[in-house]
Amino acid sequence: MRELTPLHVRGVVLPDDTTRDIWLVGDRVTFEPVAGAETISEGGYVLPGLVDAHCHIGIAAGGGPVTTVEQALAAAVIDRDAGTLAIRDAGSPFPYPDLDDHPDAPRLSRAGRHLAAPKTHLRGIPIECSPEELPIAAAEQARAGNGWVKLVGDWLDRSLADLGPTFEPDVLAAAIDAAHAAGARVAVHTFSETAVSTLIRAGVDSVEHGTGLSLDDIDEMARRGTVLVPTMINIETFDDIAERAEGKFPGYATHMRALHAAFPEVVRAAYEAGVPIRVGTDAGGAIPHGVCADEMLMLHERAGMSAVDVLAAASWAAREWLGFPGLIEGGLADLVVYEADPRADLRVVRAPSRIVLKGRVIR
Ligand SMILES: [Zn+2]
Repeated sequence: MRELTPLHVRGVVLPDDTTRDIWLVGDRVTFEPVAGAETISEGGYVLPGLVDAHCHIGIAAGGGPVTTVEQALAAAVIDRDAGTLAIRDAGSPFPYPDLDDHPDAPRLSRAGRHLAAPKTHLRGIPIECSPEELPIAAAEQARAGNGWVKLVGDWLDRSLADLGPTFEPDVLAAAIDAAHAAGARVAVHTFSETAVSTLIRAGVDSVEHGTGLSLDDIDEMARRGTVLVPTMINIETFDDIAERAEGKFPGYATHMRALHAAFPEVVRAAYEAGVPIRVGTDAGGAIPHGVCADEMLMLHERAGMSAVDVLAAASWAAREWLGFPGLIEGGLADLVVYEADPRADLRVVRAPSRIVLKGRVIR
């Protein structure tokens, strides 16, 4: 990285809740004073940036793959400018490994392409696999990404006219094992009640959406430490999905509406059971980028998560989970500053007063 002016920030550092001086030298944090550093913020509350743990910078607005690295970067920059300094891309139809070290891009933890059964995802997005192909594709996509593999665990099954599992449990388990053997963690898309139970027990690392989770599943996730990324913004679109499907698949439409109605309680139960929750917006396609704060507020207001737990889920705990050390000695030089205490009023996260990414002032 090119030479950067050392930066100095003084404020209440969360989660420690102590007023501290922080220096950023290149792409590193230090608490040792640095001569000649430029003070960019005094007062305020300092976090290591927000994390969108489920979005898609490789899916263009309106659907379909992006076609250039610049388009993917433009999406990531919208998130960055809202204070999201790390992203887990939960499946990209367009590869963009060049952005891993790009100074303008947030920290990236990427899955390769979604893996699905034929006709069980959006057109042009996944690799469509036979049961025999799925474990091989999981190992390949582990290498295409930089830490994650994305499986589609269920989808509208036209023969059932309802949600149904994409693959038999033993096939999904073999794919999870293959991804793990290739060094990646596995995130799985599930809406229904059926697939998710077997996937949790097969050792999936994160459940995406998880509208169909039972209390037994939730207990099992808590026991195993399986992460839930509820994407409440996405679940808000279920009634529209139901409306469009009503004519052809009325049972599916009813199911989707029921899952939507029950969802805040599912997330609340998971939170109360101690399931690790992360904040993910599912931006890309139908959902705009830059809405991490909206998802945080929904988790707080509708699912009953405390402000400080939402902050952990959207910041320091999520960064640790993804391997991006925050505001510790030698951590990565990312931070956001808020003028007021976000623990007292979480709406503060909508308006960072300062954003620094990779040692460089963004705002
Ligand atoms: Zn998604």
